[in-house]
Amino acid sequence: MRYLYSTMLDNEQERDNEGGTQDSKSNLSHLFRIALGFAVVSALILIYLLVPRSGPAPRILAGGLASGPSMIVQELSVLRSAYPGIKIENTFDPIKSDWKIIISKDDKTMELYWAEGRYLPEKLLASKDRYRRLIFYIPDKLVDPATLNHDQIEEIRAFGSSESRETAPISATYIFESIYDTSTRQNVERHIVKTSFLGKQVSVHEQIVEPLKRVDTQIRTAATTNPLVEEFIRNLNSAEGYSWRQIRDTSGISFHSMGLAIDLLPRRWQNKIIYWNWEKNKGNEDWMLIPLSERWMPPDIVIDIFEKEGFIWGGKWTVWDNMHFEYRPELILGRELVKP
Ligand SMILES: [Zn+2]
Repeated sequence: MRYLYSTMLDNEQERDNEGGTQDSKSNLSHLFRIALGFAVVSALILIYLLVPRSGPAPRILAGGLASGPSMIVQELSVLRSAYPGIKIENTFDPIKSDWKIIISKDDKTMELYWAEGRYLPEKLLASKDRYRRLIFYIPDKLVDPATLNHDQIEEIRAFGSSESRETAPISATYIFESIYDTSTRQNVERHIVKTSFLGKQVSVHEQIVEPLKRVDTQIRTAATTNPLVEEFIRNLNSAEGYSWRQIRDTSGISFHSMGLAIDLLPRRWQNKIIYWNWEKNKGNEDWMLIPLSERWMPPDIVIDIFEKEGFIWGGKWTVWDNMHFEYRPELILGRELVKP
């Protein structure tokens, strides 16, 4: 009982010493046992803290970085739902002070770092500012240019300027190399297949054939009761999918280069504008103010069907590209996560 109060140990010892040598011996062995127990418990705690573990373990990054772990847990959950064909694990790298993301598919494994949502290979961590977050915000509803204030207009103008197009952060596509095996043109082309979309032939990555088919079926069904959708299909001129091109001086490639995007081009444009940059190149510096009614648009229900199947529509981008659809289920599923 006497050792329960360690702060009183000295006093107790004095008293025991008065009592005889036998007690003193038992004191020492008791002390030794306590010291040993303390050492074992400390070692176990230290091992627990140092050994990297798979799965969400936000405990290490408590305090100032508390928003990080909960964000990474949510992002990985979104990515796992978006891409059930790959295995995603995460482990904390104390040397890099960042989460290592291990993505495996078939017999291949790729290691990336979280880098605040950028998903970059180790060699790019030093230049991470050149990249933007993988999951960015796609609005539910189109922004009406009539509601933009002066500052927003100037911000958009700057965003669309050629200087900004040269230097603005871009998406790192490394995670897609792992998901779709798209690290080289040769690899990509092994997976490109011809399929039919709303009666037009299009070349895309084999992994988006099924989601595209689901979109096709639902649009055709909608056309049976919705004359706008019926007209949209009838007016479709072509669907352009895979097209190899490198982006700038980076190793990033466009979603067309991976066969993950399609452009739907209408037969008749009815004087409408379909792409911001064509208008800007014609000398219209106020391209962002072009009313929605003057832009070519697929019917709302078509956009909704695409989104429901994991495709984003370029018409919602600040630099709008109204013909463009891209398979990005993580952006649809992660919408709430990055809502401004
Ligand atoms: Zn496109």
